[in-house]
Amino acid sequence: MKWFCPNCWQQIERKTNKCPHCNYNLIEFEKISYEDKLILALKNPMRENRMFSIYMLGQISSTKAVKPYTSFPAQALIQLSFSILQKH
Ligand SMILES: [Zn+2]
Repeated sequence: MKWFCPNCWQQIERKTNKCPHCNYNLIEFEKISYEDKLILALKNPMRENRMFSIYMLGQISSTKAVKPYTSFPAQALIQLSFSILQKH
């Protein structure tokens, strides 16, 4: 079985503590939450794996994963509705 770094997705040796490509601490990875692991998996080069993490993040109703994508449009929408309200 091949092993991949959860941060840069380059192939790595199984018994290594740090990714030789990006220096990612693989010991720390074992300690992070399942949700954070799924968020990291969104960068996986394999489409099936990305789809799986998107599906799983939906299953656990992760808001952490959607935040970077929704914060800007949500703010723009609030400002837009506010300016419409001011005109009327
Ligand atoms: Zn790496």
